Amino acid sequence: MAYSTRLFFPDAAMTPACPQCGLDNTYVDGAMQVCADCGFEWATAGEAVAAATVVRDCNGNPLAAGDTVVVIRDLKVRGSSIPLKQGTVIRGIRLVDDDAEHIEGHSEKIKGLVLKTCFLRKA
Ligand SMILES: [Zn+2]
Repeated sequence: MAYSTRLFFPDAAMTPACPQCGLDNTYVDGAMQVCADCGFEWATAGEAVAAATVVRDCNGNPLAAGDTVVVIRDLKVRGSSIPLKQGTVIRGIRLVDDDAEHIEGHSEKIKGLVLKTCFLRKA
């Protein structure tokens, strides 16, 4: 399942019309949607409020697209004879959809890297 971040806002999209009376004067109360007009309560669709994948570096710091990271140990690069050296800086990383363990980025020498986040530290 591919979630796009734009699914998570605007907030208005999270409060659909009341299935009982049809008015959209509804609000979220915990895991429930509540209609202020007729008092009807119903469960929110779980998938719609699923948290976005959070990508974290080796220290547990969240990473975002565009961040700069540093490689914390020498890594072999598949398809390349050049190892990725500890201390290599990767600028402008990209996140992988639905994958919290890898990011994509380019080093100065190697383009199109896919790196495990446990070997990276936010710069
Ligand atoms: Zn209602």
